[in-house]
Amino acid sequence: MKPAAFDYVVADSVEVAVSALAAAGGDGKIIAGGQSLVPMLNFRLLRPSVLVDINRIPGLAGVEDCGGSIRVGALTRHVTLETSPIVAEHFPVLHEAMTFVAHLAIRNRGTIGGSLSHADPAAELPMMSLLLNARLGITSSTGRRTVDPVDFFLGALTTNLADDDLLTDIEFPKLPRKTGWGFEEVARRSGDFALACVAATISLVDDAVEEVRIGMMGVGETAMRASDAEGLLAGQKLSDELLDEAVALIRAAVEPNTDLHASSDYRRHLVGVLARRALLSAWQRAGRAVA
Ligand SMILES: Cc1cc2nc3c(=O)[nH]c(=O)nc-3n(C[C@H](O)[C@H](O)[C@H](O)COP(=O)(O)OP(=O)(O)OC[C@H]3O[C@@H](n4cnc5c(N)ncnc54)[C@H](O)[C@@H]3O)c2cc1C
Repeated sequence: MKPAAFDYVVADSVEVAVSALAAAGGDGKIIAGGQSLVPMLNFRLLRPSVLVDINRIPGLAGVEDCGGSIRVGALTRHVTLETSPIVAEHFPVLHEAMTFVAHLAIRNRGTIGGSLSHADPAAELPMMSLLLNARLGITSSTGRRTVDPVDFFLGALTTNLADDDLLTDIEFPKLPRKTGWGFEEVARRSGDFALACVAATISLVDDAVEEVRIGMMGVGETAMRASDAEGLLAGQKLSDELLDEAVALIRAAVEPNTDLHASSDYRRHLVGVLARRALLSAWQRAGRAVA
């Protein structure tokens, strides 16, 4: 199929892009890598009257070490995040996650901003932004704001982006030095969207657990943090019994959909298995043995 006709604006600055979106009065769409948008246009699930191409805006792509955080431009391709030495050094869990995003051809074109704005419930980046307490930088025709991912992802394919908003950058605060991580995903085939996925970090201070973070996706309308299990594990030493309790809390907290790929019950079971593995890896990478 072919898309319905649209006007095409090549923006050469953020200001031009957000002005074009504002002028379209809710009928404009940004195109970044086009990996999710173009199929939706071709199937005529979307019929914007204006497409605003942001690919030629200077300074919108790149990974920068800002000291206490790293800043990723929205137009950064998935493959750049995957192969960035800065990401590999400070966020090995993010590096690992990126290897699970689609296929190399899609990672070559798809962008970080596109993935977050598209907000697929089974996409890795929304979950990683929640896990890593990222801040999302957004510019509109009226100014700039930063948003917590918890307030950004409102539902499946739904965010709090307004019609004339452009996601410009994502800031990831660095993790404490003694942080271990785990990432576990199951998909039917390599490169498919996940049936379920869990990522975890465990940070130690003076060999005591300071903080546990658990991100999950594929088991709800949006990616989410397992806050009950995080609260249970904070300050504790990981043991088999504690892991059982955490897994039970995680399974109780999710309401996965049944679809043609997997039943709700299977996904609920799976997320518990993946959480146990991710937490164990995080604990061991943080330098501890299970009691
Ligand atoms: C076969 C296939 C398999 C895939 N598997 C996975 C997978 O396993 N995991 C995964 O995470 N993803 C997967 N994807 C999606 C892929 O990662 C896309 O690249 C990503 O979802 C969208 O990025 P994009 O730059 O191509 O965005 P586009 O397709 O250009 O845009 C997507 C949406 O975001 C909006 N948008 C884009 N950039 C911005 C911005 N800066 N500010 C505001 N709005 C913006 C657009 O208007 C549009 O609504 C898959 C895609 C395909 C085709």
